[in-house]
Amino acid sequence: MTSALSFPDVTQLAVPFFIAAILAEFLWIAIKGRGGRYETRDAVTSLIMGAGSVASGLVLGFIAWGFFMLLWQITPLDMGTSIWAILICFVLDDLRYYWVHRFGHRIRWVWASHVNHHSSQHYNLTTALRQTWTGTFSFVMLVRAPLVLLGFHPGLVLFVGGINLVYQFWIHTEAIGKMPRWFEAVMNTPSHHRVHHGRNPRYLDCNYAGVFIIWDKMFGTFVPEQERDPVDYGLVYNIATFNPLRVAFHEWVSIFRDVTQSNLTLKERLLYAFAPPGYSHDGSRDTSETIKKKHLDRHPQDRGTPGL
Ligand SMILES: [Zn+2]
Ligand SMILES: [Zn+2]
Repeated sequence: MTSALSFPDVTQLAVPFFIAAILAEFLWIAIKGRGGRYETRDAVTSLIMGAGSVASGLVLGFIAWGFFMLLWQITPLDMGTSIWAILICFVLDDLRYYWVHRFGHRIRWVWASHVNHHSSQHYNLTTALRQTWTGTFSFVMLVRAPLVLLGFHPGLVLFVGGINLVYQFWIHTEAIGKMPRWFEAVMNTPSHHRVHHGRNPRYLDCNYAGVFIIWDKMFGTFVPEQERDPVDYGLVYNIATFNPLRVAFHEWVSIFRDVTQSNLTLKERLLYAFAPPGYSHDGSRDTSETIKKKHLDRHPQDRGTPGL
């Protein structure tokens, strides 16, 4: 077994770069008068969410780490830490990210943790730092289990996951239009990820990629940014608050309220927790499917266009 491994905490190392880039973007927008928008309260909330996410990792990180080390004890495999092992781990981990992120939008229990990342109605580099405080409770650490069982050391798995998150920082901007065509074809870019943050019907539930956009193309969830449909950022139902506690916990509270309603069957209670967001036992709420369908009823000419 590989021992005495120590990988740097790349997200912590990247903090000075994050701060410098946010200042540069802010100045760019101020000077050019385009390329994004900053609202002080919104940006401050995003920064607090980022700091809270780091704090929650320090307090609760031992749970996931303990789980991974347990798996590491039982796996007979050891891929080592050669450059090839690191590269393969990085690519497989990006596939892991795609599915975690897709679950994050299609299973309400996981959405409760991820929703805060989408709660800003702005799109700038501070939005990237609007990260979850409750990831541990979503149990998505389970999706990392195959990587450890395949013989990638937990330290390596978290290291490549950190690089993945740092990569995703720079794509949260309107200051960059499109990258060169080859880059847009393979990599996740500001254009692809703007779409992911959109509440327009066509942009719901697409572009889940972390680093490589190829996963969305492989699994049929890719929607390119449409010039005729500018991205409207935020949630289908925006939460109208800058209170970090409400941003962090509002969906958990809603799940609790829904699950504990009277006169529900056990199946309905479970669906309120684990079905896609928008599920309701009486059909009174909209899911992304009904939102797309209603849009097509009003705009039949959009049928068959990307995302619809
Ligand atoms: Zn998302
Ligand atoms: Zn994002």
